[in-house]
Amino acid sequence: VAATMEKLEYQVKHDLLTDLPNRQAFEQALNSDIQTPSNLRAVLFIDLDGFKQVNDSLSHSVGDQLLCAVGERLEQVLEPQHLVARLGGDEFVILLRDIQDSQQAETIGNEILAQLKTPFIFSHYHLKIGGSVGISLYPEHGASVDALMKNADIAMYAAKEQGRNRCQIYSEWMSEKLEFRFSLEKDLQNAIANREFFLQYQPQYSIKSGQIIALEALLRWQHPSRGRLSPDVFIPLAEETGLMSDISAWVLDESLNVISSLRQQHPDLYVSVNISANEFLTPRVLTQSIQNTLSKYHLPGSALELELTESVFLEHASIASDVIQVLKEQGIRLAIDDFGIGFSSLNYLLHLPMDTLKIDRSFVQHIHTDGRTKGIIKTILELGGNLQATCVAEGVEIRAQLKELKQLGCQSIQGYLLAKPMSIGDLVTFLNNNQAPQDSSLIGCNN
Ligand code: C2E
Ligand code: CA
Ligand code: CA
Repeated sequence: VAATMEKLEYQVKHDLLTDLPNRQAFEQALNSDIQTPSNLRAVLFIDLDGFKQVNDSLSHSVGDQLLCAVGERLEQVLEPQHLVARLGGDEFVILLRDIQDSQQAETIGNEILAQLKTPFIFSHYHLKIGGSVGISLYPEHGASVDALMKNADIAMYAAKEQGRNRCQIYSEWMSEKLEFRFSLEKDLQNAIANREFFLQYQPQYSIKSGQIIALEALLRWQHPSRGRLSPDVFIPLAEETGLMSDISAWVLDESLNVISSLRQQHPDLYVSVNISANEFLTPRVLTQSIQNTLSKYHLPGSALELELTESVFLEHASIASDVIQVLKEQGIRLAIDDFGIGFSSLNYLLHLPMDTLKIDRSFVQHIHTDGRTKGIIKTILELGGNLQATCVAEGVEIRAQLKELKQLGCQSIQGYLLAKPMSIGDLVTFLNNNQAPQDSSLIGCNN
């Protein structure tokens, strides 16, 4: 009976796969350890990067072998007074006992990362993985098991966010950031229904004629308590939580509605709408929704331009060319946004039927001070010319930039110098009162 009891006790405290202590055993050990609060301890959370791919693409049995090998390696790196456990999945946790300072914990964390980077070799597999490590310190980051575990987890999450293969010590801002994120995520669910989104429109000017040729629709979120939020803050969240397709459908509807009324007085004006990469995951939904919305407002395809970044084409190359063909058949214009910053497959990009290249602001910013940047813009303009695409310089803020762009023969510009993004109300006044920019000597054929 005693032997059976012992066996049972061992089983409930150990992970079946790796034979390491499990979560329950770890938490018990941590709890009794912090009863004697004399010296510093650290809890390290480790999450493997790339484990899911191994499990999915090879097999679960290879995944299992890998987890066992990781467990063994962790035990080898550590001195015997420390404790390694597996929490489940590809998550491990370590209790460092008797450490001198936070730096020592970080050093050990980095040693672990170095160990994980060394390939794991089984029979004919040569597996490369990495990890992210989060550290909480006792007593600084929590007096209880729960607090220490939670904060190490939060630090691990921050390490992942900062680009993986990193080790991060917990800090207050990480919790604040996470809470901010959670609360935004929750509020995002209701933002459409509560009519909290709105669009601003930023004019694009032809340098030659001085006229406004297009409007870029830019999304804003008027949050009930946090004020107006920038798309850079909430679009990544919306993409991760699957809300982006509803939001995009709203943007499309709203912007086409607006352009259909503006075209009664400005018949050639079109609206330029930003499209997220993950909308290409459901290409039929995308093309169908565009088609439906255009017909809802009795608009030709030429009233709409779609702005796509290079990553759309790289991540979804096979889908992209089909979608593009469908869109082109409807006369919809296509623009490559932020052009110039990636350039990872220029050759491929340049075979796509693009109408517009939007030269990224990071180049335009330095055109008047840096000869090399000016050279890059010159080359982009030449490329655009060969492709019969219009080049739009983005983020033009000062006259010196405009002067250089004009001299190089850039066709269009967008930026604070001529007009900031504005609400529909302001835009209507703006279009009616002064089509030309405030300082009309800047552009147009009169000079
Ligand atoms: P983007 O497409 O590159 O948009 C241009 C950004 O530059 C806008 O920022 C605009 O307000 C800003 N901008 C324009 N002129 C100037 C200038 O002269 N100087 C400076 N410093 N900035 C200028 P915004 O509105 O914050 O948008 C940020 C990004 O969010 C956009 O970058 C776009 O990628 C994304 N975005 C905006 N609306 C949507 C949307 O409806 N759908 C999707 N998927 N993305 C959107
Ligand atoms: Ca854009
Ligand atoms: Ca851009």
